[in-house]
Amino acid sequence: MSDAYHQLLDAAIQHLEELKSRGVRFVTVAPENLAPLAQAPARPRPVQTAAPSPPQSSSSRRIELPREPVATSPIVILNPAPSNPAKEAAFAELRARALACVKCPHLASSRKNVVFGVGNINAELMFVGEAPGADEDEQGEPFVGKAGQLLTKIIQTMGLSRETVYIGNILKCRPDTPGQTAGNRKPTPAEMQTCIPYLHEQIDLIQPKVLVALGGTAVEGLLGKTIGIMKLRGTWHTYRNIPLMPTYHPAYLLRNQALSEKRRVWEDMLAVMEKLGAPISEKQRNYFLKP
Ligand code: URA
Repeated sequence: MSDAYHQLLDAAIQHLEELKSRGVRFVTVAPENLAPLAQAPARPRPVQTAAPSPPQSSSSRRIELPREPVATSPIVILNPAPSNPAKEAAFAELRARALACVKCPHLASSRKNVVFGVGNINAELMFVGEAPGADEDEQGEPFVGKAGQLLTKIIQTMGLSRETVYIGNILKCRPDTPGQTAGNRKPTPAEMQTCIPYLHEQIDLIQPKVLVALGGTAVEGLLGKTIGIMKLRGTWHTYRNIPLMPTYHPAYLLRNQALSEKRRVWEDMLAVMEKLGAPISEKQRNYFLKP
């Protein structure tokens, strides 16, 4: 097999090892990508010499090959969906429409980016937040600020990754804050009503097995319930025929660092994992319990 083949293989193994070291236990792989892997040669690859390599120019950088055997335990592949060009095209068309949206002229003129959503369009699990903040507006991706980093940790603790789930918001534009240079505001009911058809189309295309609503505003936008996230979290609801679990917004967990609140969110995530039929280790079951 060629050097290029081994470089690609090693890069893929390295990437999976990195994901695994961050706690990721599932990756989605399309069947057409699995088939060639199954035919990979059993021949050992040539041994690398330990001679120091000359400095590489940026245009000819080589991937350093790991010397140790890797991938001692397999990463589980959770229900890989076959690729579906029609679905991909419909999603791309929806994205293009949302990116050009000017239905809320005040938001269209204040935004830097439309924050459409991120992740796997065949995901079994979809998270829904309220609206992009400044970091998300800047980068065009949901949940990339401090709260987003916490959400990413939660997802990884579940054994998943941002790449295997889908993350979206009720509002695709950052709510404007005229006269202010910092800070966020809650979307208005009118803004949520205007924007939510995009989310409906996302949900209807993705068809996740489970939805998670992050925080009271997301629940309000989805279920129209204003009785408060404290009362609603931890109990199953249904949205567009899909089981929906409301839980606290990660920003709330950043403000309230109590173990009991972390455990509440974690119990909601355990319920989600059970609903998905995902494996749950003893260690996972016991996170955030008092010692
Ligand atoms: N909070 C949200 O609800 N959504 C984001 O994308 C970021 C922060």
